[in-house]
Amino acid sequence: MTMNLRDLKKLTDTFQPTDRMPVLFVGHGSPMNAIEDNPFSRGWQAAATKLPKPNAILCISAHWLTRGTFVTAMEKPKTIHDFYGFPQALFNVQYNCAGSPQIAEDVKKTVKSVDVKSDLEWGLDHGTWSILNKMFPNADIPVIQLSIDYYKPGEFHYDLGRELAPVRNKGVLIVGSGNIVHNLRMAKFGDNVKPYDWALEFDELSKQLIETKQHDKLMAWENLGQAAKLSIPTPDHYFPMLYAIALQGKNEPLTFFNDQMAFGSGSMRSIRIG
Ligand code: ZN
Repeated sequence: MTMNLRDLKKLTDTFQPTDRMPVLFVGHGSPMNAIEDNPFSRGWQAAATKLPKPNAILCISAHWLTRGTFVTAMEKPKTIHDFYGFPQALFNVQYNCAGSPQIAEDVKKTVKSVDVKSDLEWGLDHGTWSILNKMFPNADIPVIQLSIDYYKPGEFHYDLGRELAPVRNKGVLIVGSGNIVHNLRMAKFGDNVKPYDWALEFDELSKQLIETKQHDKLMAWENLGQAAKLSIPTPDHYFPMLYAIALQGKNEPLTFFNDQMAFGSGSMRSIRIG
C-alpha cells in the first residue's frame, strides 16, 4: 500500500493526541496526605493509574519560590522536609527517585523567553514528593522541578507554562502542585469543618473560568473581587495552576478530580488535561 501526503497527515493527526502526555494540576493540601490513606490520596492514586507511564515528571511546586527560574539538574534529588510540627513518620519519608540532567537540559533549550538556570542544590520539596509518594510509590520515574519566579506576575507564569508544551511530546508528565484556594491563616481544624463562603465562591468561579478557558481572567485574579483576595492571600499555591491550564491544547479535554474543600479555607480541586 502506498501512502500519499494526505493519508500521512491523517495518520499524524490521529496519533498526536495519544503521543502527547497529559498534564496535571494537583491540589496537595496537608503534607500528611503523603502518608495517609484518605479520599484525597486515593484520588491521586486513581488519577495516576489512568495515565500512560511517563518517561519523566516535571513538577512546578508551590514550595520552590525563587528570583529567576531554575530547573533541578542533579542525578539524585534529595527529599526535602520543608515543614515542622508533623509526626516523625512524615520526616521518615524518602522519595528515592532519580533526577534527569538530560530532561533538565531539554527544558532549558525549550524555554526561549527566560534564561532557565540549572540548580544542583534543591531537590524535591513536599509539594512534589507528597503527591508522588502516593501517585508513583515505586519512585521509578525520574523527577525534575521547575522553580517559580515569585517576583513575576500571573501572565509571566502562564506564558512560561505554554512554552513547556513540546516536552509533553517526549513523554514528560508536567504537574503543577499547589492549591487554587489556599488561606492557611484562616484554616479551621477538626471534623466536619464547614468551608467559608468566600472559599466556595472562588473555587466555583475558578472552575467556571477554567472550563470556559477564560485564562486572561485567571491570570489577573487580583481583579476577581473579595473572594479571590481571601482565597489567594499570596499567589504561591495559585501559580502552579496557571502553568497547567496554559498547556491545554485546542480541543483538548479537561476534567476535575478531588474537587473538595479542606480545612475550610483550602480547595483540593485538581485538574487533568488530555
Ligand atoms: Zn503547600
